[in-house]
Amino acid sequence: MAKVYFVVPCYNEEEVLPETIKRLNNKLEKLIQAGKADLESRIIFVDDGSKDKTWQIIENASKKNPYIGGVKLSANRGHQNALLAGLMTAKEKCDCAISLDADLQDDIEVLDQFIDKYNEGCEVVYGVRSSRDKDTAFKRGTAQGYYKFMAMLGVDIVYNHADYRLMGKRALDALAEYKEVNLFLRGIVPLIGFRSDYVYYERNERFAGESKYPLSKMLKFAVDGITSFSVKPLKIISNVGLTICFLSILFFIYTLVSFFAGKSVEGWASEMCSIWFLGGLQMLSIGIVGTYVGKIYSEVKARPRYIIDKTIISNDTDQTVNDSEEKL
Ligand code: UDP
Ligand code: MG
Repeated sequence: MAKVYFVVPCYNEEEVLPETIKRLNNKLEKLIQAGKADLESRIIFVDDGSKDKTWQIIENASKKNPYIGGVKLSANRGHQNALLAGLMTAKEKCDCAISLDADLQDDIEVLDQFIDKYNEGCEVVYGVRSSRDKDTAFKRGTAQGYYKFMAMLGVDIVYNHADYRLMGKRALDALAEYKEVNLFLRGIVPLIGFRSDYVYYERNERFAGESKYPLSKMLKFAVDGITSFSVKPLKIISNVGLTICFLSILFFIYTLVSFFAGKSVEGWASEMCSIWFLGGLQMLSIGIVGTYVGKIYSEVKARPRYIIDKTIISNDTDQTVNDSEEKL
């Protein structure tokens, strides 16, 4: 039976926590009764430097209930970092960890399916929203546009998947190898590989409290996602520069023709040519420098170059040698 750790990042969640603790605890007890989770399974709440009573609530709950655990960060480091802190703490003790938000917007009734898929041999299970009916038109539009844009930039992320996911111990060990500071877990996890699957669910509305993701944080998160995973914007600069250089040649021909046809004012032809050509050249140069910066960027991130899933190396050589000796 799997030792399952639930990892729940919390930032100023005093309004939802008592109810969340109750619901998650009930769910865990049911999973244990159903033989899907081990008795040593835990629910870990990560307090991301909250300013309200979040930590007191976690601490009190953990005193009364052995299933409840807590990790307190020294300051607010943001959702992704809080999640990583929880996962890395869980990694040392669990067989698999499931991350979910404190507001229980992600339907906990599908948790059984996550564990079933893990038992079938999946190392990563992604929770995917089956619809976005409950979102505002703005959130739905921006989110879907974003997924499409990321796909266009060549970033491999799972469509309509947030951070509701299960990761096995081996996937967590692999995640620990990613040392980057600008975390975008949705982009990193697909890079890890291993066998994976999806669980579909309906996302509810927050039952209390307010979203801790204002537009400004959401924008920063979106930009982080792009700049941490794609150097395509740099390539676009080079390409635009190259195109302008090429256009300047056409323009040069046009100005020459105008000049000899006597249609231009004195000085116009040479000025226009230099503006276009130099503009293009500068952009191309920035693009080239950018390409190197992009390389340096991926070097300093020091991502693992490979993660081994299985190895088969036979230990039978001695045996074979002995066998053949005997035959001789
Ligand atoms: N959260 C966090 N640190 C932050 C902001 C948010 O740990 O700086 C947590 C928050 O407590 C919640 C999860 O991240 O458990 C998702 O936040 P929220 O539900 O407010 O985002 P939304 O669902 O509105 O996108
Ligand atoms: Mg939420």
